[in-house]
Amino acid sequence: MGYQPELVGGHLLLDLLNTVSWRLDDSRWIDRLSTPAALADWCAAVGLSATTRSTTSTAVLEEVARVRETAYAVIRALARGEEPAEAELEAMRVLLVEALSRAKPVGACPLDWATDELPVMLVLAAAKLLEHEDLSRLRECQDDDCGWLFLDRSKNGSRRWCSSADCGNRARAKRHYQRVRAGQS
Ligand SMILES: [Zn+2]
Repeated sequence: MGYQPELVGGHLLLDLLNTVSWRLDDSRWIDRLSTPAALADWCAAVGLSATTRSTTSTAVLEEVARVRETAYAVIRALARGEEPAEAELEAMRVLLVEALSRAKPVGACPLDWATDELPVMLVLAAAKLLEHEDLSRLRECQDDDCGWLFLDRSKNGSRRWCSSADCGNRARAKRHYQRVRAGQS
């Protein structure tokens, strides 16, 4: 069975950033987009396969990884309420300029950009996220090692976990274990 991504980010770009598991733990860090086939699976899951071409080459895979890691640095800082580093913003700006030079303008009002190149599409998705989404809703999963990002669309803005079935469940199990241990001593 191929790669079946968990789409919990609430935005295409965040779902891309979440294709690395255990991002904050070097010993467990896993890149789920490690093969062109996995990238093709991801595109199908997020509904991009029909609009992109040549998603299955290693060159595209490398470009997608570059977009992902560059965007992650900026967006994670914002999720933590921090100012992204100047070098990270500059790297994002370079990607955006490059993407716009490869995209075609469509429509007059509002102006939008069209492309069938996956990396370009993803950079434009990052720009849209940064420009149009309510970034006060941007969150990082509270698990120490997870590092996944999402838009908290809950009414009271109280979502803490990428997935309540996954990181949330583990945290509950950990708290339970600690309570049991505390009760025993
Ligand atoms: Zn998580």
